[in-house]
Amino acid sequence: MPRRRFLLASGGLALALADLSRPAGGRTAAAHAANEPSETLRVLLRRAGGALVAQTARVSCDGPFTVRDAADTHGAVAATGARLTIERAAGGLWWELEDGKRRGPFGGPLEIRPEGSARLSDHRGEPHPPTAYRGIFQIARSTDEQRLVVLNVLDLDEYLKGVVPVEMPTSFGPESARVQAVAARGYALARRVQSTHAALQADLCDSSDCQSYGGLAVEQALSSAAVETTRGRTLLRDGALFAPFYSSTCGGHTEDPSGISGLVGAPAERAARQSVPDGELPANVELRTEQGAATFYGKGWDSHCSASLSYRWKVRWDREPLETLVDVGLRRLSGSPLVSPSFAADASIGHLKNLAVAERSASGRVLALQIEGANGVWTVRGGWAIRALPRGSELNAAPLPSSAFVLQLDSSNGKLTTVSAFGAGSGHGVGMCQWGARGLAAKGLNWEAILAHYYPTANLGPIPHWSV
Ligand SMILES: [Zn+2]
Ligand SMILES: [Zn+2]
Repeated sequence: MPRRRFLLASGGLALALADLSRPAGGRTAAAHAANEPSETLRVLLRRAGGALVAQTARVSCDGPFTVRDAADTHGAVAATGARLTIERAAGGLWWELEDGKRRGPFGGPLEIRPEGSARLSDHRGEPHPPTAYRGIFQIARSTDEQRLVVLNVLDLDEYLKGVVPVEMPTSFGPESARVQAVAARGYALARRVQSTHAALQADLCDSSDCQSYGGLAVEQALSSAAVETTRGRTLLRDGALFAPFYSSTCGGHTEDPSGISGLVGAPAERAARQSVPDGELPANVELRTEQGAATFYGKGWDSHCSASLSYRWKVRWDREPLETLVDVGLRRLSGSPLVSPSFAADASIGHLKNLAVAERSASGRVLALQIEGANGVWTVRGGWAIRALPRGSELNAAPLPSSAFVLQLDSSNGKLTTVSAFGAGSGHGVGMCQWGARGLAAKGLNWEAILAHYYPTANLGPIPHWSV
């Protein structure tokens, strides 16, 4: 079996990812057999509720299309304008048209290919309307259970046209859209190497877990033009791909990738400092210190992302509701190394006495938060865990907008009464700041200059080829 590996894997994330290359591990045998070019992506279309797999899938086409089993080169069945139901049942995959005739079982993946200008639609079910996609669908068996996965297989740039307008408002303008197109292209390629969804035969999924992708329905002329203008261009470090993270609003200083917990290749990434001021900084302050962070987050500065509504924010809690939120948050982290000492699933902090930042990154973001209650002292580590801590039991409740904040504790008669967080920005803050890109474009910088600002150790270059 040919071995896919990274060419020019000499630094950054690629270096750490080199040992992730495996014999066809992240790419399916079917992908090899079809001799797909490296610019083809296999995007997992999540099911209703965000599920990765389902028992059945419904697909329609607005014109002629064919269905065939990947293992059967001659057995394509043609149909027109029909709705197709695919089911995972005994023996493999079964499919039927509206004629009610059931065909199967097939080993799959089943390939559904529109003819000419026809487009396929995925019917995920309520509350999602049918969604049209470019490219083809592959319906594959999931390996771990009796389910199936729906994959949209298409050209990288066709995929990006369904990503850029979702990840960044087109009102940010053409130059910002080009910045977003290049960052999203590099991120998709890096995710493909990481193969986080390889077990489901996908390079990446269509949610914000990887990168939000809305298919044909979300495409807009301005963002599609940005994808075309930047065609074939991606971000490289020492000639190799890396994950060019991006987020909404950095709050005035971007974060180093090592600040994201769970980042693959963190040791190599740490070697190159990638945290940059995004505009004016207060003079002579060290953002790692409480004083420095308070000076910076305490008021607005002339940052490139100052126009964002999340540039500065404030959240305030009364002590008692906060105690409940922290209990729930810590229980959710029960057994996780992100909280120390371990917090039992039925434990309680008791009366909240103090909440303090134990460690900050060079950009001022909170890396460790110390919680002192009547029943003990615990430390929570990692930006995401800290942001999600006061989320409570509501799964959809927003966590703190960012981990860039300072705390203010108010007491009455020696007892803690309220806690306030004064914060900056929205998102993890690593890499490109989307509101900052908008600000820099308004100041006349072009997309190449904006990318150079947010990815100071990277270069623009062609997409490296895979060796097969
Ligand atoms: Zn994903
Ligand atoms: Zn910014």
